[in-house]
Amino acid sequence: MSTSDQQGPATRIIHNQRHQDAFGSPYSPVYNTTTYRFENTQALLDVIEGRTPGNLYTRWGTNPSIQELEQGLARLEQAETALAFASGMAAISATLLAHGRQGIVCVGDLYGGTQEFLKNHCMALGIDVQFLFRGELSQLEAHLQAPGKLVYFETPANPNLAILDIAAIAELAHRKQALVAVDNTFASPVNQNPLALGADLVLHSATKYLGGHSDLTAGALMASAELIKPVIAWRKNLGQLIAPETAALLSRSLRTLPIRIRQHNENALAVARAMEQHPAVLKVHYPGLPSFPDHPLAARQMQGFGGMLSIEVEGGQQAAARVADKLQVFLLATSLGGVESLVSQPSATSHHGLSREERLQRGIGDGMLRLSVGLEDAQDLINDLHQALD
Ligand SMILES: *Cc1c(COP(=O)(O)O)cnc(C)c1O
Repeated sequence: MSTSDQQGPATRIIHNQRHQDAFGSPYSPVYNTTTYRFENTQALLDVIEGRTPGNLYTRWGTNPSIQELEQGLARLEQAETALAFASGMAAISATLLAHGRQGIVCVGDLYGGTQEFLKNHCMALGIDVQFLFRGELSQLEAHLQAPGKLVYFETPANPNLAILDIAAIAELAHRKQALVAVDNTFASPVNQNPLALGADLVLHSATKYLGGHSDLTAGALMASAELIKPVIAWRKNLGQLIAPETAALLSRSLRTLPIRIRQHNENALAVARAMEQHPAVLKVHYPGLPSFPDHPLAARQMQGFGGMLSIEVEGGQQAAARVADKLQVFLLATSLGGVESLVSQPSATSHHGLSREERLQRGIGDGMLRLSVGLEDAQDLINDLHQALD
């Protein structure tokens, strides 16, 4: 049998576990336990003092269901190791606290919760946090003069799907002795592997594509064992651990991630092409369209273009709201990455707090609608959009 790093992502994740028990089950049971019993005090001390490996208490991260999930998460990003968390924000906040204390430089648009954490919490703790627009990338080097900083960004970005060059940013950051963290939620590990492009830390809201069914909240960090180590202590002491039951559910979801992502990619491209043809649609933001300005860069660093796209409809905010309200197959809801298609209006939800000018500066037009294209039949999604737009 070929070794796991020669195998494709579907084989790697489906064969993540080779459980063996008296019943012949290929999959392990859910270890719904918080604690572990020892034969005697010496055996307990051996584990506490690190002489023998062993589990002690689930919040510390030592639970077989969670560890099995983490092995699968690491395999998906071809990382040395991974940590699972109770949510994407748990993974992001622990990582920023562990690696961002010497200063964080953010590039481009960030998820609202991440921005809130950086502005309301990191800055209040005295951490130097800088925000660069994507057009200000040329200023990055000037912000990295002191060593030990953390460069943080998302690509593709929400909601305009703008692409940042992971390899170029990592090369510059490393020259300045900075670390690079990438939130890879929108792409998923099937479409993009930031570690292979030079990033140091990869984050996921597993609530989205990794879970894939809009029925669990979880997060993940993938990196080298050395960079993961300090994050383990933050996760333990902030109590951000994923529940074993949720970990098992997420492990189950990961087995279908590659095939789900392939279909998300295919459906989103079909929807994007149809929207490009529609007279009421002014603009389609989808990295897979040759007309998208960042398409060549996306084609270079992504294996697939993902299930997220946004469109700008004629008539501004009110017209966009009318379209969203008329959609029947697409559900009007925030979040993304599930089997069901969702529509949301950034100016009314994620970017509601910004002025119109700030939104335009971030490439969010008045009539923008963000679509999370699910796994329904693509033609039904296109028909639904047509009836709403006509
Ligand atoms: C949803 C999301 C998060 C936060 O994840 P939670 O699981 O909701 O905590 C972070 N980053 C991106 C890009 C997201 O879409």
